[in-house]
Amino acid sequence: MKNKIVLITGASSGIGWATAEAFADQGANLILCGRRKERLEKLSQKLATKTLLLTFDVRDRKAVFESLGHLPKEWKNVDILINNAGNAHGLDPVQTANLDDWDAMIDGNVKGLMYVTKAILPNMLKSKKGHIINLGSIAGKEVYPNGNVYCSSKYAVDAFTQGLRIDLNPDGIKVSAIHPGLVHTEFSEVRFKGDQNRADKVYERIEALKAKDVADAILYIALAPAKVNIADLVLLPTRQANAYISNRK
Ligand code: NAP
Repeated sequence: MKNKIVLITGASSGIGWATAEAFADQGANLILCGRRKERLEKLSQKLATKTLLLTFDVRDRKAVFESLGHLPKEWKNVDILINNAGNAHGLDPVQTANLDDWDAMIDGNVKGLMYVTKAILPNMLKSKKGHIINLGSIAGKEVYPNGNVYCSSKYAVDAFTQGLRIDLNPDGIKVSAIHPGLVHTEFSEVRFKGDQNRADKVYERIEALKAKDVADAILYIALAPAKVNIADLVLLPTRQANAYISNRK
């Protein structure tokens, strides 16, 4: 991993932040992306490795291609792309759900991930190597009540990952996905629009995964030997059986 270039979207919080720490510990140089610049700066100051900070909204196609299409020469050859940026917005039945929430999830979790991938691919194709690791979710394997559009977005990530693996098969580029269950991050705070009480309830009476648990699994995927691709990894807290059954005793 030493001196490899690893690009992480959504590095300003949660899983992305912990993943940056895990890869920095291995000596990787990091391109850290997110919308909150001050968070990225704070993270960068903590890391004993070279970093490049990029602030853009993954939903903004022009900004994605302007930012990632003109990387400085020494950062151009991204070895590992970790497509982590994403969130849930709301937890409502289709009948009463907010359309802006739907747009945020489809535009960010799905189209944003696709734009970033497309922007990074040309140099990987040129060098005939690289690894793309997408953050799916258990919500992309099973649909849970009121998960409708968030689940749709993560099913799309799963399908896109499989399609990308097929398309890039002749090019020697690895494509993997990791699908975590419940992880204690700012995820629920964002989903419930800052309602901390409601967010805290999601993690009550259960030992959720920590961001570091997911980061360690992402590192495991990235460190597999060249001939091995960990294509699809579902990572659950032990007390969670699937997308909607958890032991909260
Ligand atoms: P988090 O703490 O809320 O972090 C989300 C990250 O994504 C932030 O760094 C945020 O950065 C970035 N992001 C969100 N929308 C963005 C946009 N439009 N443009 C650019 N960056 C954006 O949540 P997390 O739990 O770490 O989530 C990371 C990934 O894991 C997501 O894809 C999520 O769906 C997935 N996941 C989470 C869980 C869970 O239980 N927590 C389970 C399965 C999968 P800025 O706000 O600074 O832009």
